[in-house]
Amino acid sequence: MSLDFHFNSPVEVLDLPLLREHQVHVSVKRDDLIHPFISGNKWRKLKYVLTRAREEHKHTLVTFGGAWSNHLLATACAGARFGFKTYGFVRGEAVSNPILTMCRLYGMDLQFVDRTRYRDKKTIFDQNFLEQEAVYIDEGGFGQAATLGCEEIVHELPQHFDHIFVASGTGTTVSGVASAIINHNLSTKVHSVPVLKGGDFLKSDIRTLGVDPDMICFHTEYHFGGYAKYTAELLAFIKDFVQSTGIMIEPIYTGKSFYALMDLISKNYFATGDRILIIHTGGLTGFLGMYDKF
Ligand SMILES: *Cc1c(COP(=O)(O)O)cnc(C)c1O
Repeated sequence: MSLDFHFNSPVEVLDLPLLREHQVHVSVKRDDLIHPFISGNKWRKLKYVLTRAREEHKHTLVTFGGAWSNHLLATACAGARFGFKTYGFVRGEAVSNPILTMCRLYGMDLQFVDRTRYRDKKTIFDQNFLEQEAVYIDEGGFGQAATLGCEEIVHELPQHFDHIFVASGTGTTVSGVASAIINHNLSTKVHSVPVLKGGDFLKSDIRTLGVDPDMICFHTEYHFGGYAKYTAELLAFIKDFVQSTGIMIEPIYTGKSFYALMDLISKNYFATGDRILIIHTGGLTGFLGMYDKF
């Protein structure tokens, strides 16, 4: 079975009064439609890691994450789909929630590790697995092989865009996008909306992935207090956006990136006629931890 979904996520044009008023074109790359649980950029990041694992005849994937990690769930589901045994090390005390239940349902073996031990993930791997048999996948899918898959987002685009926006956690997705823009000599400006407070670590991480962070425009003022933090204004924006487009977004990642884009449009950040693409990075299961906030 080949390691792909044989499906390019569609690009959809948004039609909203704000966009007509400011005369900009906004399209959404619907990576949320790739798969319900191997969601969006998490599939992009896993694709070449899994491809390499298969080539090297490794049958086990080992990865790490918080109790609400989209990456853990994506790895569990991809393991079931493509024939790998999966192990997930979860940061912190034992808890139960719908994400972890789905991970188990997909066959992932979960172990909780206290925060001190969790800091040294490589040691946890080395104590439990053999390098020849198992693949170490970093938290959030961060890594060089992961950027390769994210480059394909740009390869799939049907037309030129002046700007591309993406939400950033580890910065892997935006690095892949930026790297494809450079490789193809495109003039597209790449924008990152960090969802964590203090985006400086992000720049050095992006550099370790081989991309010059100075070519990316960071909009660091849209974290709403930090990772998984939100305000009433963010929730109101999400509700309004979902109701006026039919496209679901959530408060942890896409709510913040879409908010940032719409806010910049309302402040006349763009030139008349600009063509803007925003990547819907998926992760809608993030809602499961926040369903009672709406
Ligand atoms: C994990 C995730 C991100 C962050 O991607 P990075 O490559 O870590 O920057 C963005 N959006 C969604 C929906 C995610 O699940």
